[in-house]
Amino acid sequence: MSWEKNLRQTTPYVPGEQPRSPGIIKLNTNENPYPPAPGVEAVLKGFDAGRLAKYPDPEAKELVEALAKAYDVDKEKVFVGVGSDDVLAMSFLTFFAGERPILFPDITYSFYPVWCELFGIPYETVPLDASFQIRPENYQRENGGIVIANPNAPTGIALPRAKVEDIVKENPDSVCIVDEAYIDFGGESMLPLIDDYDNLLVVRTFSKSRALAGSRIGYAFANPRLMKYLNDVKFSFNSYTMDSVTQAIGVASVEDKAYFNKTVDRIVATREKTRQALSDLGFSVLPSQTNFLFARHPKRSAAELFARLKEKGIYVRYFASDRIDEYLRISIGMEDQMDTLCKALSEEV
Ligand code: PMP
Repeated sequence: MSWEKNLRQTTPYVPGEQPRSPGIIKLNTNENPYPPAPGVEAVLKGFDAGRLAKYPDPEAKELVEALAKAYDVDKEKVFVGVGSDDVLAMSFLTFFAGERPILFPDITYSFYPVWCELFGIPYETVPLDASFQIRPENYQRENGGIVIANPNAPTGIALPRAKVEDIVKENPDSVCIVDEAYIDFGGESMLPLIDDYDNLLVVRTFSKSRALAGSRIGYAFANPRLMKYLNDVKFSFNSYTMDSVTQAIGVASVEDKAYFNKTVDRIVATREKTRQALSDLGFSVLPSQTNFLFARHPKRSAAELFARLKEKGIYVRYFASDRIDEYLRISIGMEDQMDTLCKALSEEV
């Protein structure tokens, strides 16, 4: 077809499956097994549909202010988007427009190379070491930008703040994006350092720790200069990204700190219990600071275990990629779901 030569062809990111059948135990996309804060339901029940006739606030001011207050930063240093995928995509488009390759680990969030392909950003991957750790010294080379997921996915391993700081400090001419999608479950945030480094952008999400994956809210913290450039690109792309219902839901979520702490603590406790149970079954489990575990069994192939679990209605994630094709990534669900998972695995190993 002659028109094909004029269009953009790209290979998309493949998200985890979203099976809807009842009774399935869904541990494949790192969602939160608990509902969002009770105030979210109250917002939904009380929302005046008439408000939808008008465009939403393009700056999502109330949500930005709620985040600024909750995290004790100036509102000029806060950006929100439709999930952290949106925030990250806008950030790649804004900050990675140079000619040198950007750097990120060989094993990390697999959306990064997809955005590079889409936006024509050159990139190079930097191998994690043999124990899947990021080595800051490997980021001391010419580059056009850096992206680090911390804690990393799908490994779950966190890099101490001082080591992430080494990367940011050694690369003053590059914007460093630190993707903190899982930071609320452990690890040390880079948020306290945004005033010290003008090249640091911290990106976060409501999808995991705030149980709002279905609502699509992501946010970022950085100094006002970086934010100006990010907003210029965002407002050159689409002004009204986040709808008014989502903005109101986001505020309700941020305002309920007690519920947030309670559910995060519960997930962390279940994670540790599940880690022990998997170790008892002979799995090697990487040290996780997230709401998932990355585990392999010395005797059973991960691909086979993945398929067997699926037959039993338990969905986990398997990546048939270099270096990690012997691992299963298991999201932390409720205690009884994790008990069912461990029982199912005990019948296989
Ligand atoms: N970063 C990482 C490391 C992730 O694992 C995910 C979840 N797939 C995201 C960002 C995006 O999450 P969301 O768009 O739901 O905020």
